[in-house]
Amino acid sequence: MKSLNDINFKNKKGLIRVDFNVPLNDEFQVTDNTRILAAKPTIEKILNDGGSVILMSHLGRPKGKDDKFSLRHIVPELEKVLGRKVIFIDDSIGDKVQKAVKELKPGQVLLLENLRFYPEEKKGDENFAKALADLGADYYINDAFGTAHRAHASTAVIARFFDKDHKAPGKLLEKEIHSIRKALDEGQKPVTAIIGGAKVSSKIGVIENLLNKVDNLIIVGGMAFTFLKALGNNIGDSIVEDDKIDLAKRILKEAKEKNVHIILPVDLVVADRFSNDANTKIVDADNIPDHWQGLDIGPKTRDLIDEVLQNSKTIIWNGPAGVFEFDKFAKGTEHIGLSIGKASEKGAYSLVGGGDSVAAVKKLGLTDKISYISTGGGALLEMLEGKTLPGIAALSE
Ligand code: AMP
Repeated sequence: MKSLNDINFKNKKGLIRVDFNVPLNDEFQVTDNTRILAAKPTIEKILNDGGSVILMSHLGRPKGKDDKFSLRHIVPELEKVLGRKVIFIDDSIGDKVQKAVKELKPGQVLLLENLRFYPEEKKGDENFAKALADLGADYYINDAFGTAHRAHASTAVIARFFDKDHKAPGKLLEKEIHSIRKALDEGQKPVTAIIGGAKVSSKIGVIENLLNKVDNLIIVGGMAFTFLKALGNNIGDSIVEDDKIDLAKRILKEAKEKNVHIILPVDLVVADRFSNDANTKIVDADNIPDHWQGLDIGPKTRDLIDEVLQNSKTIIWNGPAGVFEFDKFAKGTEHIGLSIGKASEKGAYSLVGGGDSVAAVKKLGLTDKISYISTGGGALLEMLEGKTLPGIAALSE
């Protein structure tokens, strides 16, 4: 795969697939510009070389053309981030766009309309991909890690129409691949992964792959109850996937065979209902009363996790330890964030990804301490599963 830095963009036009799927408020202002900032290094590399840039992205989930989802809303924020003017065009393909691309001069930035106004984008339609490839750009650059696990027209199929020397990952995509590999494949031992979230079913592939990569696997959140039940514990009314009990047993057995130390909650904050106003108490994991449900890890578990993390050299975290949306059950998740921050300060390499974990790290002001915060949700999970993402594979085919 070619690296962006190997290309000189002087007088060349780079078509970049970015992920500008940013949140907007009621006045259509960008409320979090993280994704725009993340694309800046790639855009600047091309402009600084003396080239010009054509940006394409999706925004939200429009059903056909809908001004609410127009990328024109993000132009002011994009101009602010880049410190230069951005030309917006209200289509993604066709004569009008080709003309605008043709007239583009070095140093200029053109933003195309929301790709998902065309249903062909998500379908990975070859003709639509070709129409994008025919806009007149010299290079195709993919910098949208968040959609790299999708074989959409602009994220993967388009790459077929550019030869190996005329396509490359953007700097963000390159950094994501490098950071995930560094933790997953080249991590200094002991390697610890913390996997949380509601259900084990959504992370089976991740857990199975991690069994081949890590020394310690910490399982928290709702999914821990399926494992606790598999071990014979009474779990009261806690969330559980009964059809995954056998799978949990198999994972526990496999972990033992592979010498992976599995850490499950030893105590829990249980509640008498699923509410921030619920009555709560702390109980041991083998003593959950009937009709109560575990909504967070308890203090003994927090200390146990802290001890493992402070002795780890590489840490991977995805998924909350409890129902952190309710303040009453956010302690476990926050504690994990703080503990990872502390371990990172002492030199551990830490990778955090997934909306909830990233939100926790941001809320705690730990973003500078974590070694790498992934911008991907589904894409990160698929990388952790050991899958080759279509958007990445297409760049070297
Ligand atoms: P996921 O999208 O799979 O990472 O799951 C995130 C969700 O898991 C969050 O909305 C949490 O509220 C939820 N969650 C975490 N722990 C529990 C729990 N003990 N019981 C129910 N839901 C939980």
